[in-house]
Amino acid sequence: MAEKQAGTKAPALVKIYGPPRSSDSYALRDFLQRSDVDFEFVALASDEDARRKLGVEHLRDSRLPVCEFPDGTRIECPTVRQITEKLGWFINPSRSEYDLAIYGAGPAGLSAAVYGASDGLRTVLVERWAVGGQAGSSSLIENYLGFPAGISGAELAERARQQACKFGAEILVARKGVRAEFPAGKGVGYLEDGTKIIARASICATGIEYRRLGLPNEQRLLGAGLYYGAGTSEAPLVIDEHVYIVGGGNSAGQAAMHLVSAAKRITMVLREDSLQAGLSKYLIDRIHSSPKIEVLLQTEVTALHGERALEEITLRDNRTGHERRAPCRWLFVCIGGLPQTEWAKEVGAVRDEAGYLVTGPDLIVDGQHPDTWPLDRDPYYLETSLPGVFAAGDVRHGSVKRCASAVGEGAMAVALVHRYLRSA
Ligand SMILES: Cc1cc2nc3c(=O)[nH]c(=O)nc-3n(C[C@H](O)[C@H](O)[C@H](O)COP(=O)(O)OP(=O)(O)OC[C@H]3O[C@@H](n4cnc5c(N)ncnc54)[C@H](O)[C@@H]3O)c2cc1C
Repeated sequence: MAEKQAGTKAPALVKIYGPPRSSDSYALRDFLQRSDVDFEFVALASDEDARRKLGVEHLRDSRLPVCEFPDGTRIECPTVRQITEKLGWFINPSRSEYDLAIYGAGPAGLSAAVYGASDGLRTVLVERWAVGGQAGSSSLIENYLGFPAGISGAELAERARQQACKFGAEILVARKGVRAEFPAGKGVGYLEDGTKIIARASICATGIEYRRLGLPNEQRLLGAGLYYGAGTSEAPLVIDEHVYIVGGGNSAGQAAMHLVSAAKRITMVLREDSLQAGLSKYLIDRIHSSPKIEVLLQTEVTALHGERALEEITLRDNRTGHERRAPCRWLFVCIGGLPQTEWAKEVGAVRDEAGYLVTGPDLIVDGQHPDTWPLDRDPYYLETSLPGVFAAGDVRHGSVKRCASAVGEGAMAVALVHRYLRSA
């Protein structure tokens, strides 16, 4: 991560050539958009266009998408790992042992990296995709302190990344933590590619994973008309299109506001009987005052149709049970998420019924520590049932699900890491 690691913004201009509604093109666009990399997407309009621009057979050629880098190099159907390598961001851990390992580079993990590294802890931050987490998918965060005009999630994350790098945190992107072990006084994290991270203390800041609709065809159509989250990277592609957004929370409202200027029409589909239940007042006011946005209440998407890309959806009106099919080429799903904490289950860390990590006072029931807690002292406020392993942000049981609180918890977790290391 040569330039990224040094804390300067990458100047790289990457060109992606691909069919407009293909999962592979989408994954690359999403990664670059979240990473705040200047890129251009060249949508190939036809087989002839693909032949002329790239010399491939047709739009379904397995060599697509093609990524072109500033030095003229082209990589056919690249993985994200190949892109990070080409941009010089790919690094391996430089140390055999760290003071602090943080998993997840959303607001909580980035904040922990800034505070950990600036406090002098040897800090590594591991992120399975791009920095920014859910916030990185937000086109405009308007309620984060200090940005009265709002700030895009990608920019906020990029600033935090630079700050963490400035203080010496090591950031490994596109590297997923998959398993953990806790021999006495250490945490050992194993990444998907076999890399091993050893640290004296760890913070889990892995947030939540978008909740799926749970419909047949969903995986196949992902990125080919179906998207999770606010669709920041897709806005330029929905010009004069009819867009459907599922969900009635703030992320759905933000998606509507972000896409409304380009789209011809937006239909929000939600199960609730009013927008009031999950949306901030400022978003409700904007949605109601936009003539381009319609809201279908007490309605659900019950089926997705399309071979290579999404073509139609089935909508069910829950008041009448009536189902109808509607043409739909763009569907953004913003229905919240769930934590992915299987690693914690494997090592016996206490989780709640939904999989969120239980910490601090919530671990004490009827005055008793959990059976597996080995120490005389109580767990610190953000400490899990594994001493020296902390949780911060949305992954934590009882967390507030806001950027500011995730950032606050990241900072607080580092203060508690210091307390743990002093006592260990
Ligand atoms: C579209 C949208 C708009 C939003 N708008 C606002 C807003 O305006 N204001 C507001 O306050 N909040 C907003 N939120 C909520 C806010 O973004 C979240 O509360 C916040 O991002 C939580 O931060 P986090 O760091 O706890 O988790 P996340 O942001 O979920 O970050 C977790 C990170 O961990 C990574 N990760 C997961 N598993 C692993 C693993 N095994 N190994 C390595 N890395 C892993 C993920 O890839 C991710 O990058 C919005 C959310 C969304 C989706």
